[in-house]
Amino acid sequence: MADINLLLSKLKVKHSGKNQWRACCPAHGSEGGTLKIKEQDSGKITLTCFAGCDAKDILGAIGLDFKVLYVEDGKPYIRHNPRKELDELTVKIAKYDLDNGKRLNKQDFIIFKEAEKRLRQG
Ligand SMILES: [Zn+2]
Repeated sequence: MADINLLLSKLKVKHSGKNQWRACCPAHGSEGGTLKIKEQDSGKITLTCFAGCDAKDILGAIGLDFKVLYVEDGKPYIRHNPRKELDELTVKIAKYDLDNGKRLNKQDFIIFKEAEKRLRQG
């Protein structure tokens, strides 16, 4: 279960916006606020280190596991392959619209087809 409070309690954080924080990245030991923490509307938490640290390494450094980032029935946030996650979402939304009799405009249709093709190719 996503637990933003537990996560924030382990880091030296600075509030940087709505549901957003900056912290010193525990994985590469920076002094500045290179780590961005964001709580999505879905409750899922994303970690982004500007030095490129993996979410797994960041969590490992503070003794937490992936469970702290994602909502109960959701998937963990996968930082190294955001393209696929985005494509899956694009296809899901487009199919939902089409199933409900909505027509996609030309540009959306092209984006949908490209996403579908990429997913098919793996
Ligand atoms: Zn880092």
